Amino acid sequence: MKASVPILVFVAAVATADPPRDPRDWPIHDETRPQPPVVDPGTASTPDVPGRPPSDAVVLFDGKDLSAWRATQGGGPARWKVEEGYLEVVPGAGNIETRQAFGDCQLHVEFRTPTPPRGAGQDRGNSGVFFMGERYEVQVLDSYQSRTYPDGQAAALYGQYPPLVNASRPPGQWQTYDIVFEGPRFDGQGRLQKPARVSVLHNGVLTQHAEELFGPTLHKIRPPYAAHPARLPIGLQDHGHAVRFRNVWVRELAARP
Ligand code: MG
Repeated sequence: MKASVPILVFVAAVATADPPRDPRDWPIHDETRPQPPVVDPGTASTPDVPGRPPSDAVVLFDGKDLSAWRATQGGGPARWKVEEGYLEVVPGAGNIETRQAFGDCQLHVEFRTPTPPRGAGQDRGNSGVFFMGERYEVQVLDSYQSRTYPDGQAAALYGQYPPLVNASRPPGQWQTYDIVFEGPRFDGQGRLQKPARVSVLHNGVLTQHAEELFGPTLHKIRPPYAAHPARLPIGLQDHGHAVRFRNVWVRELAARP
């Protein structure tokens, strides 16, 4: 009888111990390690039919309405055109942004540049996907057999990183971006601790691999980072071209438990 007491104490101590924080502290193949949440992965899009988002995604545009969006300038209703299953830039209507703010995230967005194509270089199917307000842009452009400065072509981190390859489809065909965005971190004094980091798959092809941004992405200038909130809207750019979007969803990235 007496011998059982220390065993019970030992079991209780193990049961209440905090789980390891460092992955290396978990015993290998530990059956008690927490099971990852189950997610229905949804379905991929086909050329004609948008796919179904994963079950844990926040749907930003499902082909029906712009309720998740507002005008970036002034915050009024988003005045882009909603047609059968897609959204289209109304030139002059201005950029739009999500009503909800997001931090680190995985964003899926599909776009289609105008057909027949018009213009050249930056003046051809130009739009953009913005993170953290309008600070960081993944360029949307018709770069199919169309040249521009490489750090401004489709899937570029605008003004900083050309894509690793040009995986563009012809104008008029639906294309996908799957973007992993990690926002920058600032300390209490507003000094940069960790730059923003961005990965992009363009039509399933890796075009940006965990690239660290130098700062905000702008036209002709590269300003340094300035501290900003950790969560801000995601935006789409009106660059005067009737680019279409569909099947837009986002998954917020939590720290590994
Ligand atoms: Mg753009």
